[in-house]
Amino acid sequence: MLHPNYKLNKPISFSKSRHEAGSKMPRFRQVFHIQKLMSNKELIRNLCIIAHIDHGKTTLTDALLAGTGLLSSKMVGSARVLDYLEEEQRRGITMKSATISLHYKATEQAFIINLVDTPGHVDFTGKVTRALRSIDGAIVVVDAVEEVMAQTEIVVQQALRERVHPILFINKTDRLITEMKLNQTRIEEKLNRIIQNYNDLVEIHGETPFKKEWRVNPKKDNVIIGSALHRWGFTLTTAKEKGVKFNDIISAYSKNEHEKIAKALPIHKAILDAAVKMLPNPLEAQKYRIEKIWKGNTNSRIGQAMTNCDDNSPVVMCITNVQTDPEEGTIATGRLFSGTLRTGDKVFLVNAQAEGVVKQVSIYMASFKEPVDHIAAGNIAALTGLEQVKPGETIVSSEYREEMVPFERIKYVSEPVLTIAVEPKNPQDLLLLLKALEKLAIEDPNLTTIVNRETGEYLLSGMGELHLETATNHLKDLLENTKITTSQPRVVYKETITKKGTAATARSPNKQNKFTVQAQPAEEGLAESPKQDRANIKNVGETLAEDEDKNTLVNYTGKTQQLQDALDSIVSGFRFACQAGPLCGEPVKGVKINLTEAELSSHPGQRGQAEIARGVGKAIFGSFLTAKPRLLEPIYQTVISAPTELAGDCSRIISSRRGKVCGFEQKGTQAIITSQIPVAETFGLSQEMRSTTSGRAFWQSTLHHWEKLPEKLEAKIITETRKRKGLEPSVPKPEQFTEERP
Ligand code: GDP
Repeated sequence: MLHPNYKLNKPISFSKSRHEAGSKMPRFRQVFHIQKLMSNKELIRNLCIIAHIDHGKTTLTDALLAGTGLLSSKMVGSARVLDYLEEEQRRGITMKSATISLHYKATEQAFIINLVDTPGHVDFTGKVTRALRSIDGAIVVVDAVEEVMAQTEIVVQQALRERVHPILFINKTDRLITEMKLNQTRIEEKLNRIIQNYNDLVEIHGETPFKKEWRVNPKKDNVIIGSALHRWGFTLTTAKEKGVKFNDIISAYSKNEHEKIAKALPIHKAILDAAVKMLPNPLEAQKYRIEKIWKGNTNSRIGQAMTNCDDNSPVVMCITNVQTDPEEGTIATGRLFSGTLRTGDKVFLVNAQAEGVVKQVSIYMASFKEPVDHIAAGNIAALTGLEQVKPGETIVSSEYREEMVPFERIKYVSEPVLTIAVEPKNPQDLLLLLKALEKLAIEDPNLTTIVNRETGEYLLSGMGELHLETATNHLKDLLENTKITTSQPRVVYKETITKKGTAATARSPNKQNKFTVQAQPAEEGLAESPKQDRANIKNVGETLAEDEDKNTLVNYTGKTQQLQDALDSIVSGFRFACQAGPLCGEPVKGVKINLTEAELSSHPGQRGQAEIARGVGKAIFGSFLTAKPRLLEPIYQTVISAPTELAGDCSRIISSRRGKVCGFEQKGTQAIITSQIPVAETFGLSQEMRSTTSGRAFWQSTLHHWEKLPEKLEAKIITETRKRKGLEPSVPKPEQFTEERP
């Protein structure tokens, strides 16, 4: 049995776990063998398994490992190979992306299946998005009882956005037979409904022509039906080959002989045969993926090298996962899209604008890292020695540093809603804490770390209570002997405005620069330039800056040329104001700032960045406060799955916490309740749900939208927040920021 604390990326030794896991084949022959296969691109498949939580992704991964001879089959379901953090073991959810490479012999030909693991919990969707960049195909696992769920839609959408080709595995079919006691006709109806709903997702989120080509159909062998737990699975072809009919499976269960089915129709064979047959190899996939994930010229030398997955071309690699190991330092895993990367190669990190030397290239074998001297294009590999590397980085041969366009920014679908303050017990350890926080934010794209400039607190924001708890534990691991204290989690609020404000003018502290702005809600569309004749002015209405909270700064001054050397300072004033609004220092959301006038001092010495930024910031606050500002709170969508008789109790809990039930569906013996609930009301929800339902309800929460706080709560929260941040108790008046009206 693998040790629960077993770390995936530890240097390899012939430990007990390794011995048990796969020592049947001599180590050196296998590395050599795998490397040889890796140079033949037609024999590679880069894949991942994605699913709604609990639909069986981990069980399937374990079954694939067992099937390819790397785990004893008795351990399937308990070993959970990819869950390598203790935390994951304890909670039984997969959180960290990792890679395993499987050596699969389909009939005569052997293949390399690089399987990139992705976390199942929605709090970690950022890692799923990253992992998808490095692969070409995905197996979407859907629980036959629960059918297509909210997170199934999210993962399918994420895959299609990266032009990753998904196929469907309908898991837990055994439950339709043993628990729901459905006959063959009812089972077929249910399976057809799942296929139809899945194809609807492909239709909604896919692009032409892929949405047509990637629809699944059992006749095309891109639908696998089975049970990961009991290790059987089939496509229409494999079932026909073996002469097994669904009624044979039903009858095997009635005689408690399902192991016979696993022998006749092993799950790993069904899945991997389908993957090899239906999913693209890197040569095929890069032909259509590069133009989607890379915005450079595809006819350039580098563009052609990547489109053709060419070994004899410049190295281009996209890093999708970065982990830190106490012994090896930074380990960066990613996909080599072109060239041959060798240990000792000098490379350039395009985003970091830094040179580096690759200390060691490794391939993954099963879940172990094996050092090699080179890897060929189209593969997934791990690199050490590049200390500045971050996920999303583009690595290129040094001689191409000037001409390389980085990969498209990876788009994440989530934003943090809860924050904790972190502090070292001993103030001397502050630097260590900051370094560890930085590492944490690099590893997990859904975490953000900032310093609150009013309170001097170090803040860690995440997607939910579990997410922050896991992050804190990881932080403690990184800090080893350094003790830290953490505050209770608190909700992230946002400040917005609900009508157009009056124009406000403010000067920089040295009085030598003057700005006039007008704030309006973002969704009101483009404002007309108030004073100028728009037709005669070039660049009027030019967007100078925008951010992820949908705030924009638009230039209506008509003075683009004169403002040129002050633009950066003006933008930093805007960003500064949006980071912490005037109501209570929370981030600003959905506000459009129209810069209508700007008068700059003629002396460069009086146009310092801080002077200009503060002048702009004051004008923004002045107008913002006249625009009926409101505080927004985050609202979760919480989808609960519980035995039907407990549905009433679950709904009551939601309603007692300012929540509302928005949907109710019956799926077999389970009720699926869709609800919306303010994040602020979810503290302690886990305990209440667990004790009320004796642990029989499961739920997931994702940020759904931001909503105005009820007025009776708003004043209280603003005052409390201001107090906590050491601000004056009452919200400032607009006049405190503006010295004159225009
Ligand atoms: P993940 O969250 O998607 O990784 O899901 P897991 O693999 O952890 O599975 C969630 C639960 O479903 C576990 O209790 C598994 O034992 C169970 N499970 C997984 N696959 C099957 C299956 O084919 N049949 C049945 N009956 N249970 C399964």
